[in-house]
Amino acid sequence: MDCIFCKIINGEIPSYTIYEDKIVKVFLDVNPMSPGHMLIIPKKHYENLDDINMSTLTHLNVIAKKMHVLLKEKLNIDGMTIVQNNGEVQEVKHYHMHLKPYYKENNGITITQVYEKLMDCKKKNNPE
Ligand code: AMP
Ligand code: ZN
Repeated sequence: MDCIFCKIINGEIPSYTIYEDKIVKVFLDVNPMSPGHMLIIPKKHYENLDDINMSTLTHLNVIAKKMHVLLKEKLNIDGMTIVQNNGEVQEVKHYHMHLKPYYKENNGITITQVYEKLMDCKKKNNPE
């Protein structure tokens, strides 16, 4: 299957990975709506809300709660919107949750700076 997010999971395409475990991977959106815009995806390919199972869905939400804490602690966000697209409004047909931070004032930092703040490190193997 030619799925860009499966390729990210397999390591064929690089990503700014923020968190992963056996079930999910979290990485920065390559075209962020705001600094820290991230995607949470299941490692198994589910297309959308119709075919994802309940336990995976629950785990994705548990991780969303943890990422919310991380974004507040490391990027001082003032709010956050979660979006999950299905059908005609879904560009990538691999289930994903968008976590979109809101800032009262745009801090204008780059994706590399966001990665370093979230991970408490200097960029090494992640792409520009
Ligand atoms: P949508 O399917 O409309 O909910 O959105 C797909 C999202 O995936 C968009 O926000 C893209 O910027 C993002 N995206 C596409 N390719 C990549 C990639 N290689 N790495 C990170 N994010 C990506
Ligand atoms: Zn996939």
